[in-house]
Amino acid sequence: MTDYLRFLGAAGTVTGSRFLLEIKGHSYLIDCGLFQGGRSEKALNWDAFPIPPERIEAVLLTHAHIDHVGYLPRLVRQGFRGPVYATEASQALLQIVLPDSAHLQEQDAAYANKSGYSRHKPALPLYTADDAEETLKLIQGVPFDRALALDGITITWRPAGHILGSAILEVEVANGNGSRRVVFSGDLGRYESEVMRPPTSVTEADLLIIESTYGDRLHSDEPIQDVLAKALDHITQSEGVLLIPAFAVGRTQEVLYHIRQLQEKGRVPDLPVFIDSPMAVETSHIYCRFGDDHNLDVNLLMDEKECPLRCRDTRFVRDVEESKLLNERPGPAIIISASGMLNGGRILHHLKWRLSDPRNVVLIVGYQAAGTRGRLLLEGAKRIRIHGEEIPVRAHLMQAHALSAHADRDELLRWLGGFSHPPRHAYIVHGEPKSSQALAEGIRERLEWDVRAPKIGQVYEIV
Ligand code: ZN
Repeated sequence: MTDYLRFLGAAGTVTGSRFLLEIKGHSYLIDCGLFQGGRSEKALNWDAFPIPPERIEAVLLTHAHIDHVGYLPRLVRQGFRGPVYATEASQALLQIVLPDSAHLQEQDAAYANKSGYSRHKPALPLYTADDAEETLKLIQGVPFDRALALDGITITWRPAGHILGSAILEVEVANGNGSRRVVFSGDLGRYESEVMRPPTSVTEADLLIIESTYGDRLHSDEPIQDVLAKALDHITQSEGVLLIPAFAVGRTQEVLYHIRQLQEKGRVPDLPVFIDSPMAVETSHIYCRFGDDHNLDVNLLMDEKECPLRCRDTRFVRDVEESKLLNERPGPAIIISASGMLNGGRILHHLKWRLSDPRNVVLIVGYQAAGTRGRLLLEGAKRIRIHGEEIPVRAHLMQAHALSAHADRDELLRWLGGFSHPPRHAYIVHGEPKSSQALAEGIRERLEWDVRAPKIGQVYEIV
C-alpha cells in the first residue's frame, strides 16, 4: 500500500499549516492552522475540507499559534472526533488560545452583522465557543523527547525554541522491513534568544518539511533593547503612547522581558505597561509554569515581583470596560494588545484611537502576512481602514526585527546544516513564494540538496 504526504495549507502562504500523512490507509493531520491575512486567504477557511474530517485518525500539533491550530474547532464542527496530540505546554496554551479564537470569530460575525459591512448576510462565525470546548476535550499532552506510537507511525516532539511548547515533529513511518523518517520543522526559533532555547538540531530525515517565513531575509543586528529604548524615549518626550501589537502567545512575553531588562539597567523609566489582552494575561502565567522550556531562571519565574516576564509596573487588563478606559488615558504609557497582525481583537480599538496622533508610536514586532493591516502599515499606507472607518496614519511607526520568533535565512540554513546527509526529499513550506524560493536557492547553493516548494493540494508518495 502506498503512503502519501499531502500539502493542504502553508504551501505558497505563511498561514494555514495543514499537512496530511496517509499511512497504510490511516490519515494523520500534522497541524490544523487557520488561514490568515487578506480576504482571499481567509476565504480558504470556508472551503470544504479535502477529506471527510471523521476519517482523520489523529491530529499532531507542532505549536499553539493560530496559523497552526486555529482550524481545529472547524474540523471538529465538521465531524472530527479523534485525539489531538500536542506537547504539555501547548496543551495548556490551547486551553486559552482556542476559546479566544472562537470568541473572535463570533465577535467579528456579530460586529459585521451590526454594522452591515459584511458581504455575507447574515455573517456567520467559522466556529463557536461550543466547538472550541468540544475540541479541548480531544487534546492530549505528550512530553518532549518521548516517542508516541500510533497505527503505522511513531512520533517524537523535539523542542523548536519558537514559542513555549513549540516542537519539531519526527515521524517514523513503518515501510516494508524498514522505516522512513518524516521531519516537520514546525516554526523554528532563533539561536540567540534570551528567553527561548535554540531549536533542537536534527541529523536525519528521509522527508523534510521546512518552514521559510524569513527564507529571504536576515534579521537586523540592531539589538531589540536599543529599538525599544528609542521608542520609549520618543513617547516619554512626547507624552504619547507606545502601542505594541503582539501575539498574546510568545511575542508579548518577550516584549515584557526586554522592557524589564531596560528597566533593570536604568535605561528607561518605569512607565505603566498595560497588557490589554485577557489571553496574554493567562499566557504569561503558563510561561511561568513551564519554566523548564526556556532559558530563564525558574525560581525567578515563580516570584511575582522578580519575574523577568513582567515589567515593574505591569497592569493586566481583563474586561472590555477597562480596556475602553485606556482610550482616555494620557501618555506616557505602553499598551500591548493583540492581534499581532492587526487583523482583529482589541488592538484595533487602540489603533483607531491612537494612530492619527503623531505623539504616539506603533512598534511592529512580529511577522505581518500579506493583506493584513500590519503589512499595509509597514508598506507605508497613509490611511488604514478599521471597522469601516478610514484612519489617517500620523503616529510614528517602528519595527523590531530582532524580536521575531522565527529563525532568519542564515539560522534556517544553520539548522539545515546539522543534517548528516541530504534528505531524499526536502519540501519548503510556510512562506510567501519569494521567501520559499530564496530559501530553496540558498539550500541548493550551500548544501546542494534537491528541494521543492509544493503548491496547495499537491500530493507526494512516501518512498
Ligand atoms: Zn508560530
